[in-house]
Amino acid sequence: MAINWTDAQISQIVQSVMAQMNSSAPKVSANWDATQYNGRKFIGIYEDMHDAIAAANEGYKAVRSMTLAEREKIIAEIRRLTHEEAPIMAALGVAETKMGRVDHKIAKHHLLADKAPGTEDITPTVKTGDYGLTLTEMAPFGVIGAIAPSTNPSETVLCNCIGMVAAGDGVVFNPHPGAIATSNYAVDLVNRASANAGGPKILVASVVKPTLDTADIMFKSPIIRMLCCTGGPGVVKAVLSSGKKAIGAGAGNPPVIVDDTADIAKAAKDIIDGCTFDNNLPCIAEKEVFAFANIADELISNMLKHGCYLLTREQADRLAEIVVEKKVGKDGVTRTSVSRDCVGRDAKVLLEKIGVHVGDEIRCAIAEVPFEHTFVQTELMMPILGIVRVQNIDEAIDLAVKAEHGNRHTAHMHSKNIDHLTRFARAVETTIFVKNAPSYAGIGFGGEGHATFTIAGPTGEGLTSAKSFTRSRRCVMVDNFRIV
Ligand code: NAD
Repeated sequence: MAINWTDAQISQIVQSVMAQMNSSAPKVSANWDATQYNGRKFIGIYEDMHDAIAAANEGYKAVRSMTLAEREKIIAEIRRLTHEEAPIMAALGVAETKMGRVDHKIAKHHLLADKAPGTEDITPTVKTGDYGLTLTEMAPFGVIGAIAPSTNPSETVLCNCIGMVAAGDGVVFNPHPGAIATSNYAVDLVNRASANAGGPKILVASVVKPTLDTADIMFKSPIIRMLCCTGGPGVVKAVLSSGKKAIGAGAGNPPVIVDDTADIAKAAKDIIDGCTFDNNLPCIAEKEVFAFANIADELISNMLKHGCYLLTREQADRLAEIVVEKKVGKDGVTRTSVSRDCVGRDAKVLLEKIGVHVGDEIRCAIAEVPFEHTFVQTELMMPILGIVRVQNIDEAIDLAVKAEHGNRHTAHMHSKNIDHLTRFARAVETTIFVKNAPSYAGIGFGGEGHATFTIAGPTGEGLTSAKSFTRSRRCVMVDNFRIV
C-alpha cells in the first residue's frame, strides 16, 4: 500500500485529473439528496439518530468478529470504489457546498485511497524477560460517533472509515448539514464496499438530517464509546466536554516563514500551490506569510508568476470587510465570523466582490499587510494570502507563533538555515511542520508518511490512523511462554 510518489508522478496525476476535468468533467445530477444519488438509494442512512446508532452497533458486532484479512478485504474494496468514484464525490462536494475545486478534490480522494493506513497500522508488542511474557494488543474501542466537516466531507468520512474498520470499530456519522449528500454518498460507498467484500450490508451509518440535537443524542448514547470530531473550535469544545473519550481535530491558521537563505522562486511556487489547493479549504494550507524584508519583493514577484493578483492595501482592506462578517448578537456584543459565501471560493469570484475582474489564470489574491490584518489573524479558508515583512528570524518566529494562535496545528518554513528551521519548529510546536514544500506534503501528497483528513492536535493523536481508534490491552503470562 505504501506509495512513494515522485514529483513526476504527482505532476502526472494532477495533469491527468486536469485532463479529465477539461474533457469529461463529471456532471452531477441535480437529482441528489441526503438519501440517494441518481435514483440509487443510499444504504445505512436513517431518519432517527437512535436507529443509526443501533445499525452502527450491529456493524461493530460484525466487524469485531472478522479476521484481519476479512477487514482488509473490505478496506481494499473501499479503496477501489474511492478511486473509481472520486470524480463523482468531488463534483458532488463542490456542487453541494459551493466550495473548493473539483480537480483538487479528486486528487484528495485518490490520496486517501492510496495512503490512509489499514490493518497494518495496528501492531501488537511483546515484552519477555525473567518473569515471562507480556503481550500488548490494540483492541477495537467500540462504536465511534464521528463528526465530519463541510470542507473535506467525503474525504473525512472515507478516511475515518478505513481507519475505524481496520481497528475493528463501528462508526455512526453526524456529518455537516451543508455537505450531507456528499457525506452520505461516502457512507453508502463504504456499505457497498462491505457488501461486495462479503461483509455486512450495513457496516456504517449516518442520518438524513444532522442537527445539534442528533449530535447530542450521539454524545449521550451509552452505545457510543468514543467521539471523533473533525471541525472548528466550537464542535471540538463540545466533544471534549462530552465526558467521553474524544479525538478532537480542530482549527488551524498555518503561518509560513520565508528567510533569505530559501530558494525564493521555489518557495513562491510551493506556497501558492499549497495555499490554493482546493481553494485553501484544507486546515493545513498556508494562511499567512512572514517574509524577510530583504527577499520580500523577490518573493512577491515570483508569486505573481504563479497566478497571483497583488491587491493594493486599500483593496485588501475592502476585501477583508467582505470576507469577514460582523454580527451583533442578542446580547448586544459584536462578533465576527468568516463569510460562508466566501469560504473556498475561487480567487476570481472573491476579487469580483471588490470590482476586480480577472481570468481563470488567477488562483490567489495576495497582499502586503501589517501583522494585525484580518488576512493574517483569521483562518479564512480562501485563496487569499497576507504577507508580512519581517526584519529577522526573531521577529519572524515571534509573529508566526502569535498568528498560529496556539492551535499547534500546522506551520511551514522555506529556508536552508538549519538553526532557523529548528528554532521555528521548537517554538511553534505544531502537529505538522513542513520544510521547503507545499503544505500538502504534510499529509503525504508528495511527502513521506500516511494520509489523513483528521489531524488531532488538541487531543494529541496527531495525524490519525487506525491505531488512533484502538484501546491498548495487556495480557501477562508469568514464568511461562519464554522459549529461552
Ligand atoms: P464546523 O465547525 O462548522 O463544522 C464541523 C462539524 O461540527 C459539522 O458536522 C457541524 O455540523 C458540527 N458542529 C458544529 N458545532 C457543533 C456543536 N456545538 N455540537 C455538535 N456538532 C457541531 O467546521 P467546517 O466549517 O465544516 O470545517 C472547517 C473547520 O474545521 C476549520 O476550522 C478547519 O480548520 C477545521 N478542520 C480541521 C481539520 C483537522 O484535521 N484538524 C480537518 C478539517 C477541518
